[in-house]
Amino acid sequence: MNKKVEWDIIVPVKLPISLKNVEPGKLHPSLLRDIPQGGKLHYLAADAWNAMVDAAKKDGIELKPTSSGDTYRSYDAQKAGFLQRYQLEPITNQSTKTFEGKTWYLKKGMAMLATPGKSQHNLGLAVDIHTAGEPKRLKWLIANVLKFGFSWEVVPSEPWHIRYTEGDAVPQAVKDWLVLNPKPAGMFGTPADQKAAAENKIVEQNKSNVSSEALEEANSKPNLRLGQTGRDIKQAQRLLSKHGFQCSPDGDFGAKTEQLVKNFQEKNKLSVSGIIDKETWVALLS
Ligand SMILES: [Zn+2]
Repeated sequence: MNKKVEWDIIVPVKLPISLKNVEPGKLHPSLLRDIPQGGKLHYLAADAWNAMVDAAKKDGIELKPTSSGDTYRSYDAQKAGFLQRYQLEPITNQSTKTFEGKTWYLKKGMAMLATPGKSQHNLGLAVDIHTAGEPKRLKWLIANVLKFGFSWEVVPSEPWHIRYTEGDAVPQAVKDWLVLNPKPAGMFGTPADQKAAAENKIVEQNKSNVSSEALEEANSKPNLRLGQTGRDIKQAQRLLSKHGFQCSPDGDFGAKTEQLVKNFQEKNKLSVSGIIDKETWVALLS
């Protein structure tokens, strides 16, 4: 594409309020909605996407993601993709990225990928469109994306990558579509996601009694799991005991500690993983 003017459709992303203070790639399932072609998007982006897909269909243009992984990407999925494409061993004349304080080199023949947590796919706002560069499709997109609150991020080299930029200010074309396609209230994600969201409400309620110090401290803690050792584990073991799950503070995350963590999680209506994640830290520190 050398008609560069057509391509200057880049609008800065306004973040929905629901994404403020949310860690990219770690969106709560209740914020995500399945889209019909596979994959998930933030619910505001999903509405805009569905509205745009319908409008395109009326004009004889099919819009779908390149794959379900090219919609919302969890932090772990982004990291797995990143580790596949980048290596620590230096390669001359290859592009680099900084991740976890280290310089990573793009492997030969691999396409660049955003650093984990840095992609708008991690916010559920971006989607990669299948064969977006096909002339008829591209022409339609150029004429219509803005109406539905989408625009490109890198033009013209990434015609497939568009993201929803309008935050909570739902564009009129999307509002119009929503009138004709009303969604059931509170229906986000798959039934399993909805169940998780409902259960999480209990946690949210408990959280409101949590001091900001406890939340802050929990945020500074790493996830802990079976086989690890160290000072944080010692602290977690002491806290388990404090909550009535007697645990010797040896700083060794063995099978016995794991079982106690599971018991603690069960009692506190957390997901029973045996891993001391952020939710578990919050409950332990409360
Ligand atoms: Zn993309």
